[in-house]
Amino acid sequence: MTTKENPPASAAQEAPASGDPSKAVLKRSRRDVLRSGGMLSMSSLMGTAALMAQPGEAKAAVEWAEHFQKNYRLMTPEEKAEARLRLEKRYSGEYNKKVSVDITEAQPGVLMGYALNIRKCIGCRRCVKACVEENNQSRGARPGERIEWIQVLRMERGEFTADKMNQGYPEGLGIQVGGNAYSPAGQVLEGQYQYTPEAVPEKDANYMPIACMQCEKPPCVKVCPVRTTYREADGPVVIDYNWCIGCKMCMGACPYWARRFNLTTPVLPKEDMNPVTHYLGNRPRMRGVVEKCHWCLQRTRHGRYPACVEVCPVGARKFGNLLDPESEVSKILARKNVFRLKAELNTFPKFFYFYD
Ligand code: SF4
Ligand code: SF4
Repeated sequence: MTTKENPPASAAQEAPASGDPSKAVLKRSRRDVLRSGGMLSMSSLMGTAALMAQPGEAKAAVEWAEHFQKNYRLMTPEEKAEARLRLEKRYSGEYNKKVSVDITEAQPGVLMGYALNIRKCIGCRRCVKACVEENNQSRGARPGERIEWIQVLRMERGEFTADKMNQGYPEGLGIQVGGNAYSPAGQVLEGQYQYTPEAVPEKDANYMPIACMQCEKPPCVKVCPVRTTYREADGPVVIDYNWCIGCKMCMGACPYWARRFNLTTPVLPKEDMNPVTHYLGNRPRMRGVVEKCHWCLQRTRHGRYPACVEVCPVGARKFGNLLDPESEVSKILARKNVFRLKAELNTFPKFFYFYD
């Protein structure tokens, strides 16, 4: 079934042979229209209205509503409630189970923060798996079909010491500051977030989990031309998937490799779909949009931990309210050795690494 949530590969391909313009318009999403640089024309409005006039066209009603849906952050509470009901009905039908779409807002007095004990991580990647399952990420096998928001980088242990300065190639003239082409001390090699060890932790490795840092000054928000990505009042940077036009500007701007593009229609088997969703969180995405970690809004706005925190077998991951001095994460910031990734970029992540 082709829907606006999962738009066709090409709107033109979906146009009926008869060339009926009303149906062709309904097959195009707002994102398609924006991508083509067009505004809604009078003929498109009339075409959609004509189809709406047909009784029993539930699908048309859904598409009509989505076609004219405002950006989520500009919607009134009533409009949000309408969108929620429409999506719940739609997803429940598509996934053959009762799906809820939460629209709980940010709670006053809450600023979410995350802390990760870099010494404790054993590189097991259970967090990656739990995140995929919780957040309805695409899990196909073909290139571009598998999406993982968390990456655990495997770093080879090494030292940049003076006695290694003259080892290996290049010798004599040449630039050689710590390690060399044959001993990649401290470097992340391509593919090392997909390592397959017999057992973890490996004796020659350290692990560095990364995901969206929920920056206070997020470059991704600055560059988004349609303002579909923004910071919520309780901290997480979110994306209204309905308005994302898939231009990938945010991916280029993010210094943390945190955003993923849905190159294909996401592969989300009905039996694997997590039916407890949030509009700005883990609801099913469509082809051609960007997505990323949102700290499990469907959980955390109800006092639960993100899935990755809950599943970590060594307790390396901590989460809580930065505005509460008694929260675990606040105590870590006050008492531990803490650093932020790429702090020099002034993105001010709310994701903190620490060690004892
Ligand atoms: S880590 Fe990247 S995607 Fe996340 S808020 Fe910062 S710039 Fe945006
Ligand atoms: S791809 Fe990124 S920058 Fe482009 S519209 Fe979507 S969220 Fe905004």
